[in-house]
Amino acid sequence: MPPSSGELVLDARDLHKTYRTGRAGGHRARVSAVDGVSLRLRAGESLGIVGESGCGKSTLARMLVGLERPDSGRIEVAGVDVTRARGRERRRMHQRVQMVFQDPYTSLDPRMNVLDLVSEPLMVHRRVTGGAARRDRVAELLSLVNLAPELMHRYPHQFSGGQRQRIGIARALALDPEVLVCDEPVSALDMSVQAQVVNLLRDLQRRMGIALVFIAHDLSVVRHVSDRTAVMYLGRLAEIGETTTVYDAPAHPYTQALLSASPVVDRTRRRLTDRIRLAGDPPSPTAPPAGCRFHTRCRLARERCAREQPVLRTIDTGPDGAADQVVACHFAEESRAAPAEAA
Ligand code: SF4
Repeated sequence: MPPSSGELVLDARDLHKTYRTGRAGGHRARVSAVDGVSLRLRAGESLGIVGESGCGKSTLARMLVGLERPDSGRIEVAGVDVTRARGRERRRMHQRVQMVFQDPYTSLDPRMNVLDLVSEPLMVHRRVTGGAARRDRVAELLSLVNLAPELMHRYPHQFSGGQRQRIGIARALALDPEVLVCDEPVSALDMSVQAQVVNLLRDLQRRMGIALVFIAHDLSVVRHVSDRTAVMYLGRLAEIGETTTVYDAPAHPYTQALLSASPVVDRTRRRLTDRIRLAGDPPSPTAPPAGCRFHTRCRLARERCAREQPVLRTIDTGPDGAADQVVACHFAEESRAAPAEAA
């Protein structure tokens, strides 16, 4: 039975993931890709995740869909901990969380036609038996993503980038997932078709009640598609809250700098002014700074910031503030109250 609206469908708690890389200074370097991230998602809700390249967004996405195992932490899907599940139960739970990949040019096997591509998950999980049922289900899925069912015998190279991403979405929908994790789903597409794919995902989410995790570095796309927005920096969450709150009254200096650099968030730009700039590149994830990981680039950094790691906390936003603005910054109230003056 599908979850009812508002029901908790995904609960990720304190996820950690570290990779070994090549040698640095005679030692094997380790990259802390995700460091203590927790997220909750309810049925029918959309959560955007933004941050610079290398901030851990894609590693987080891969853990949520079961393509990577976290080193520690737990991921509950519909109340079952999938990080501890094994064998058939693990596969069954992960059917409920599916992924739309970034690049529709490489994520679809060029030797398979659309019928085979879209029906593959159905066949692997024995959801259909017989050719007619398979074709009917693929036709239904293609219609859902606004592609003509007659195209099912064609191959990926016969489609445009936007059409290929629709095929990828149809494939992701084949098992009736409760959560769709979209990892930069439009960044490989022309600007002209990005909006069509984003609108399709938003429409599917509303019509089918799917929960959506939408990962992107383009702030305008995330704003359009997300009920809540999370901002990541060097493997950690910097800020999470209602999208309108995060965009119109950001409290973390990193969120403010991201928005200030974006040409699309006009209202926020006026408030923040051009004085909030993000200096330099992020530090190497093999040697992240102690304390607040953002302190080497933060305009508000003080001695405490280099020493003490800020924890995520709900900040007091005053009588007109939103209830759920959660920020990892020692001085978030000050930053939120007067972002420009504090520069
Ligand atoms: Fe900046 Fe300090 Fe806040 Fe980190 S804790 S974002 S360094 S003010």
